[in-house]
Amino acid sequence: MTASVSGGGRLPAWDRTPADLRGLGYARDPRHLFGRLQRVATWDASGPVLARPGRTLADRSLCLDLPEIVEARPSADGATRLVLALEDGARIEAVHMPRAVVRPRVTVCLSSQVGCAMGCTFCATARMGLVRNLAAHEIVGQLLAVLHRYGPTSAQKLNLVFMGMGEPLHNVEALVRALDVLCDPAGLAVAPSRITVSTAGHVGGLARLARARWVPELAVSVNGATDAVRRSLMPIGKRWPLAELRAALVAWPRRPHQKFTLEYVLLAGVNDDDESADRLAAWTGDLAHVLNVIPFNAWGGAGSPYREPCSERVDAFVGRLRGHGCLVKVRRSRGRDARAACGTLVAPTPRAASGSVSRS
Ligand code: SAH
Repeated sequence: MTASVSGGGRLPAWDRTPADLRGLGYARDPRHLFGRLQRVATWDASGPVLARPGRTLADRSLCLDLPEIVEARPSADGATRLVLALEDGARIEAVHMPRAVVRPRVTVCLSSQVGCAMGCTFCATARMGLVRNLAAHEIVGQLLAVLHRYGPTSAQKLNLVFMGMGEPLHNVEALVRALDVLCDPAGLAVAPSRITVSTAGHVGGLARLARARWVPELAVSVNGATDAVRRSLMPIGKRWPLAELRAALVAWPRRPHQKFTLEYVLLAGVNDDDESADRLAAWTGDLAHVLNVIPFNAWGGAGSPYREPCSERVDAFVGRLRGHGCLVKVRRSRGRDARAACGTLVAPTPRAASGSVSRS
């Protein structure tokens, strides 16, 4: 792998595994340095504290810059939409979602790309097109920046979902690399079963992810119960039809009791009729799944061709699926009032910052 070099010719710290650190000449057990980099509880206000008397070679060769949180929009339901600026000025969004139940947990929604190339017609991020992929160190750095500011400081209370900007499997090598770092037992040690990667149905990327060292949970955006409807909403359906997508799920290295999350954005008058429910149930068949029905989150004002179905239609659609034996949850997106809901994340990159101009 060729690593990108930034800030004064140093290597970004956040995508280095203990083995890489050893390769950089770190004399002591590289897992100590790796652990220190990941343990945000030990950082000071400005970031990780590595400067100690007798700095090591690895300390000097690593760039510790993090994506910078430039905007935080809290929403009434406790979720906070965060805009982060990257080194070249490009912007991404993450969402911090604490859950204050008996056992408090935090879900962080992460971006994998700046913009997205998938072109799904109902998704606001698609309007940006793909600006660029995130590097693995930006994916990890995005999370560490969020944890440092908002917690939790331990991965025991953390769930990660790759449902922010971008198609994670269209940037699968960086994703796999980020998983290597995030799941390493010497660092944050996030359990792969606590990480969900959501894909528009990128079958090529699924084959690659299935061979990763740490295999996460999967969420798959189905959104159409026939190839014709699905293709009209999601151009990726032309490349990988529903039958191929299903075959990839059947071949997935499923953990015992693991269920696929199947996502279905419900669009009034487009894919919310009874026949669609019947076909969707037939497609899922005996796949171990939880079906997340997501009523459309409106964006783009009155000009948008899509509407959220009324609650009676949502109930009827869900009832029909349940009648077929599907396990269904209606997912009302969190953060709707802060524009943090699914499919509404757009962080315009300032014009002066696009291209090769870097922030000083
Ligand atoms: N590219 C990935 C992850 C991004 S979006 C994917 O396609 O899965 C996460 C989920 O939000 C997807 O299921 C997507 O279909 C859904 N979504 C996109 N736009 C939406 C909108 N406006 N309202 C509700 N859900 C939306």
